[in-house]
Amino acid sequence: MTQSLSKFVKELQAIVGEENATDDQAICASYSRDQHWHFVPAKNPAYIVRPANKEEVRRVLTFANNEKIPVIPYSTGINVRGLTIPVHERSILLDLSRMNRIVEINPEMKTATVEPGVTFGMLLEKTKKYKLRPAFPDAPLTASVLANYYLRGIYQTSAVDGHDHTLSYEMVLPNGETIKTGSRSLSEMPYFRYGVGPDFTGVFCAHPGTCGVVTELTAKLYRLYDNRKEYFVGFDDAGTPRKIIYNLMHDELAASIRLVDNQSWLKGICGTFDYPYEKLPKFVLCVLVEGVDGIFEAKDKLVQEYITESGGTVLEFPEEFKRTFEEESLGGAEKSCMVFGLRGNYHCIGLYGPLTLAAKYYEVHEKTALEVGIPQDHIHFYINPIYSFHGQLCYFELDIFYDGGDLGFGEKLRNYNEKQFHRLLDLGIYGWFRPYAGIIGPTADRIGYLADVWKKYLRILDPNEIMNRGKLF
Ligand SMILES: Cc1cc2nc3c(=O)[nH]c(=O)nc-3n(C[C@H](O)[C@H](O)[C@H](O)COP(=O)(O)OP(=O)(O)OC[C@H]3O[C@@H](n4cnc5c(N)ncnc54)[C@H](O)[C@@H]3O)c2cc1C
Repeated sequence: MTQSLSKFVKELQAIVGEENATDDQAICASYSRDQHWHFVPAKNPAYIVRPANKEEVRRVLTFANNEKIPVIPYSTGINVRGLTIPVHERSILLDLSRMNRIVEINPEMKTATVEPGVTFGMLLEKTKKYKLRPAFPDAPLTASVLANYYLRGIYQTSAVDGHDHTLSYEMVLPNGETIKTGSRSLSEMPYFRYGVGPDFTGVFCAHPGTCGVVTELTAKLYRLYDNRKEYFVGFDDAGTPRKIIYNLMHDELAASIRLVDNQSWLKGICGTFDYPYEKLPKFVLCVLVEGVDGIFEAKDKLVQEYITESGGTVLEFPEEFKRTFEEESLGGAEKSCMVFGLRGNYHCIGLYGPLTLAAKYYEVHEKTALEVGIPQDHIHFYINPIYSFHGQLCYFELDIFYDGGDLGFGEKLRNYNEKQFHRLLDLGIYGWFRPYAGIIGPTADRIGYLADVWKKYLRILDPNEIMNRGKLF
């Protein structure tokens, strides 16, 4: 610790201990950026504070609220959207990674209750002995389960898990009050999403860090099956596979469905095996079937029938490749950061929309990217049907893989974003995947009075506007 400790650091150290609060510039700098630096310039927080428990979180927030210092909650800092990069000077970066207890795994309820520092890897280690798993994002196993679910991350991994894994949580507000959502508010049972009144669990989600600090969250767990089989089917365009995807979703046959382009995602997800990816059809549908004895065989039979009807080309991939797809889908994405490795970096716009618009999203992605001077072979696309329910919900990822050392590329990407956000909104989307840099502004203009209500509601929870201030509005 430095000699000339500021008054604030001393007060923060009195709460979390000397080792856990600092204004050391070298340490602060290590929290100043993420993968999104082309869009969100790096900025040092003024203080790093690492609480050990809820009470310390409460005291830090109360202190920050009284002093009107901005606070940025940070669980594992793996987000790729600049979400934990400060907007303002003098911010406290609240690093919650010391709070890493798995509070409970309840195999009967099929739930896990975790603190912010618990990663997918840590949780999977504990759940697999019950033949259970969390829902995985396409993220490294080092990502925080709590932060990912609270962000309402999209779990591009299993088409049967759906997209709402959070049952309930507790959150500390800037005024020091604690809010508990769902059945937690009434009892020690955190297992049910809908407690008293509106779905507060949902209301606080998906605008991360702007309401308060979530200190504990209960999530659903899903079953792990022994029977599994993978299929890979090639198509020359993004529109033709729509029918088979629809059938697979409608009949709830597949644990994982992805339509990926033959280069980036196949290589990225399944590994850089020595394989002639460029000789594959332009799009490859990856399907994973699983289930208990009896049901598994029946599903598999139907899947094979749909594949035959689809007109696609059944592709044979190496066994290792299949295992990686399986792991990626249901066992955690240990290799997903490789997608950056193909050209060193990647930019993406992720959105929710209906399967019916798949080919249009691809068309507009390609058109906009080419218009701003992005080469054809940098343009990639990825569809992941999320859930077989009304609306044919899919996650779409419009990707551009690029060399981060190419200084001119940042400008191209900014131009791409500027056009593309509006084009996608005009085309029609269900919503954005995350509060991206620069995305809420143009979107808020289109949602009318709802945006005013949203802002007012944040002011009620956080009247001094200390929570990740300025990140959204
Ligand atoms: C290569 C790569 C690929 C990825 N792909 C996907 C993907 O396909 N799908 C997917 O869902 N995820 C994906 N992610 C992961 C995703 O970005 C993170 O899981 C997610 O951002 C949350 O974890 P985090 O630790 O990164 O959160 P942080 O970076 O710590 O925080 C993210 C946001 O949540 C807020 N926050 C954090 N903790 C709390 C808290 N306790 N209370 C209140 N607010 C909080 C922060 O202020 C910030 O706004 C990917 C990540 C990487 C690195």
